[in-house]
Amino acid sequence: MTPVKTDILDTLENGVIITDKDLNILSWNRWLVVHTGISQEKARGQHLPELFPGTSFSILKRKIHIAFTLKIPAFTNASVEKYIIPIKLNKITKSIFRFMRQDSVITALDDTQAAILIYDATPLLEANAIIETQLKLVEKQARTDGLTQCYNKTMFNELLAIEIKKADRHDYTFSMIILDIDNFKSVNDTFGHLVGDYVLKEIATISAQSIRESDVFARWGGEEFCILLPQTALANAVAVADKLRRILAAHDFGAAGHQHCSFGVAEYSKDNQQSDLVRQADEALYYAKHNGKNRVAACLDDRKFILGP
Ligand code: GH3
Ligand code: MG
Ligand code: MG
Repeated sequence: MTPVKTDILDTLENGVIITDKDLNILSWNRWLVVHTGISQEKARGQHLPELFPGTSFSILKRKIHIAFTLKIPAFTNASVEKYIIPIKLNKITKSIFRFMRQDSVITALDDTQAAILIYDATPLLEANAIIETQLKLVEKQARTDGLTQCYNKTMFNELLAIEIKKADRHDYTFSMIILDIDNFKSVNDTFGHLVGDYVLKEIATISAQSIRESDVFARWGGEEFCILLPQTALANAVAVADKLRRILAAHDFGAAGHQHCSFGVAEYSKDNQQSDLVRQADEALYYAKHNGKNRVAACLDDRKFILGP
């Protein structure tokens, strides 16, 4: 084979190492000099692993073996193998990675020499990581209520639909509770919106802490919240609602003092529509409101109501 014309390799915007089968370096282009700080004089004739003590070159050795035996190019991928040679990224670049991420192509040039082409994949992987983080944030925002950080109505409805499917398929029931703060408008009118917001956040925190982890707590909208109670029959859901009613009534909301809530409870009946269950819980809530507030009411057999517990 004719000697490698190395000066053209120095014009490339990626790393090129030419080695023998045992990773002894025959050529080391300028890109590598700039990024590693290792001169061509120092690199040439060196065993590649000795230039980077502590770095495992087992993957590269395996790929070189493949390239020589199968006579086809072998590849490494920045998202899987991370990098071929360790190049520390300068701290001022504020990269999320400590080392440059690299794609590489390893080709046997003949029976004795291999070319290792190294490409900087850091910007692409960084961009992917940023997109992934943003996507997770958007997904979280889409299911979270901004003020209270609990689930929003959209998410509650999605989880409710899943629960209905489970209940219809198996011999299994569940209930839901709607909670509405009593006379909440007067909290805003008397103490201002910030105190109103504080009360909403406190109610969300206390309620979420007072129910089972398997229960779903969400903001239905305004000063109304809802709870999904898997595997819970009406009487037990009424007991949960009344426990919560007492806990919230006893809580000191600072400037807003003591606050009360009314509760509507309904149990899912097989083959009912999602909207039927929500309507029943809502009608029970209004029954509680019209019967003095700070109460729990349940919907029985669709349109009959009882005051609990
Ligand atoms: P009731 O006992 O019948 O439920 O009376 P209420 O005053 O609680 O109900 P009403 O529907 O008349 O008023 C609800 C109030 O909730 C009015 C609205 O300004 C307030 N509200 C809704 N969302 C928010 C919010 O995010 N922050 C604050 N501070 N107030 C809110
Ligand atoms: Mg309301
Ligand atoms: Mg209210």
